[in-house]
Amino acid sequence: MDAYEVMDKDGNFLAVLYTDFHPREGKRSGAWMTEFKGQWIESTGENSRPHVSVVMNFTKPTESKPALLTYDEVETFLHEFGHALHGMFANSTYQSLSGTNVYWDFVELPSQIMENFGIEKEFLHTFASHYQTGEPLPDELIQRLVDASNFNVAYACLRQVSFGLLDMAWYTRNTPFDGDVKEYERQAWSKTQILPMVPETCMSTQFSHIFAGGYSAGYYSYKWAEVLDADAFSLFKQKGIFNKDVADSFRSNILSKGGTEHPMILYKRFRGQEPTIDALLIRNGIKK
Ligand SMILES: [Zn+2]
Repeated sequence: MDAYEVMDKDGNFLAVLYTDFHPREGKRSGAWMTEFKGQWIESTGENSRPHVSVVMNFTKPTESKPALLTYDEVETFLHEFGHALHGMFANSTYQSLSGTNVYWDFVELPSQIMENFGIEKEFLHTFASHYQTGEPLPDELIQRLVDASNFNVAYACLRQVSFGLLDMAWYTRNTPFDGDVKEYERQAWSKTQILPMVPETCMSTQFSHIFAGGYSAGYYSYKWAEVLDADAFSLFKQKGIFNKDVADSFRSNILSKGGTEHPMILYKRFRGQEPTIDALLIRNGIKK
């Protein structure tokens, strides 16, 4: 594990960032961002800065090779680092409203927007080169990453929306249910059903997210976060992915605000308008 003292552009201390990249015995699998200490402003006015940690389980280096990351691992790093930026740029009075303490359906915007960089040539060419020859990642390979991630994407989108609709159908009831579960399910997601339902299957009973997982009408937040991150990133696409003004605005209007204001107010301040689904459809190759 490494620890970094993170300084702001003016030289002021911003945060401590811990990175823990590789698996070891006894370490939990997966990847996440966490805080050892949040951010708040003391009554004396002192800004108490956060201690943030990103934890991964990336491919380990070997005796003959450095740690060569898969594309998924790069994407995971970008994702968790986005959460870390949300934590490190936090600048609120109260810890309970600071950094990643936002509404459930807004917390994945800072993380998912970072994933967009993973297929940008301008970004990849800053570091992604062959570990022996130094040859940059070929454009053709980058295009294949894009094409692969868009394979069957329209079907996957409808499937995700269907889960959101089913979740909402169950959790917006205000009377006990004693009907036919299968029929209820069919009606709930009828607008998203393309293939015929398999009679022997029942999604409601095996969809652990919505009952055991605690989503309770919040499962839509996955797809909603994609709408937000694609729409927000389209401003970077428009003005340049390293555009400083857009980045500064994302930091001051979203990342540093935590949950101190309603997400849509923060979002509109950054984007100038409410999000639309267009950027997501374009990114997915569905719309030109
Ligand atoms: Zn996340």
